[in-house]
Amino acid sequence: MESRRLIEESSKYIMNTYSRFPVVLEKGRGVNIWSVDGKRYTDFFAGLAVNVLGHCYPRLVVAMQKQTQRLIHISNFYHNEMQINFARLLVKNSFAEKVFFSNSGSEANEAAVKLARKYSKEKIGYEKNEIITTLNSYHGRTLAMTSATGQNKIQQGFEPLTPGFKYVPYNDIDALSDAVNERTCAIMLEPVQGEGGVIVPSREYLPAVRKLCNEKGVLLILDEVQTGMGRTGKLFAYEHFGVRPDIMSLAKSLGGGMPIGATLATEEVASAFSRGSHDSTFGGNPLACAAGIATLESILEDGILLQECMRIGGFFMESLEGLKSKHPDIVSDVRGLGLLIGMELSRGCMEVVQACFERGYLINLTGNNTLRFCPPLIVTKNDIKGLTSSLDEVLGRLS
Ligand SMILES: *Cc1c(COP(=O)(O)O)cnc(C)c1O
Repeated sequence: MESRRLIEESSKYIMNTYSRFPVVLEKGRGVNIWSVDGKRYTDFFAGLAVNVLGHCYPRLVVAMQKQTQRLIHISNFYHNEMQINFARLLVKNSFAEKVFFSNSGSEANEAAVKLARKYSKEKIGYEKNEIITTLNSYHGRTLAMTSATGQNKIQQGFEPLTPGFKYVPYNDIDALSDAVNERTCAIMLEPVQGEGGVIVPSREYLPAVRKLCNEKGVLLILDEVQTGMGRTGKLFAYEHFGVRPDIMSLAKSLGGGMPIGATLATEEVASAFSRGSHDSTFGGNPLACAAGIATLESILEDGILLQECMRIGGFFMESLEGLKSKHPDIVSDVRGLGLLIGMELSRGCMEVVQACFERGYLINLTGNNTLRFCPPLIVTKNDIKGLTSSLDEVLGRLS
């Protein structure tokens, strides 16, 4: 069998850092994806919250084909129209006034932290360099972002960590308030913790954090790598909470599947970066930006995708709540925002993920005991009904 051979070769040639499902995926269309053996899966994983438009969205494919034939890469030593157009589009649709492009979420966060430090040191003082993040956060895997991430299991073995990060419990304004001192340069948060288990904070949390930042002269960095680009039903999750950050990082769905990251900031904060402060060879290259423009325009233009995200997300949550009432001994919680949804189980997580996989559904397990669903925004009620009836059957067997 084709996949058996490929999977053997995978372990022979690729470093063993991922626990992968035993399948080789070959092609996708919309919410569906097929293996080399021809089996179809419905994709509630979406490349880990990346494929917002599903697979091979026609408008994205055409934009990339066109750009590939014109220009794939230049260097940031030269201007590039696609990058300018994408930056303008992001600025017009967010709190931000300036953009720095990179290639991933970790890199977008690195730039955010570098910018915050440079701003605070220049404007306020050299000692103002500490970043507060939250426990169970996830900010990426570069060494500095491993250090920023408030999870021991991610940090172990890589010491010494990058100094200058401090952690407080999430959704706890008192803990945060106690941790801020004259050395605090920025607070960095996810508007909804993704990898931590889809933790949605209280309505009051982010406004209180913003207020604290204003009072103490501390910058607010929102890591919207997972929540941005319509995932939660607003273009950016901060819009749900009526706050604006000073700096925001984006990646994952920013290019609809093309690797691209971005750090957005206000003019005031962005002014701390000057020529030579930071750079990236690939960051914002024409092909990645063409993909980003097509993705963002598709999300914005009809407005339909965002409305649908809320409507379908609501239906999805209700269906999962239904499963919770039916299987209360296993399902302990359902939570989420838009189409970033978690269902916490008291046991049997791996079995459920495995059983869904066998039934042709790709879902993900995060924060140890939470099933995470982050399908493309084009997912339909029927797709959701299919998944939830499979889940019902699987949960029934467990209890
Ligand atoms: C995935 C993720 C990152 C890291 O992004 P990479 O592209 O894997 O470097 C950072 N922050 C959040 C919130 C994420 O979900």
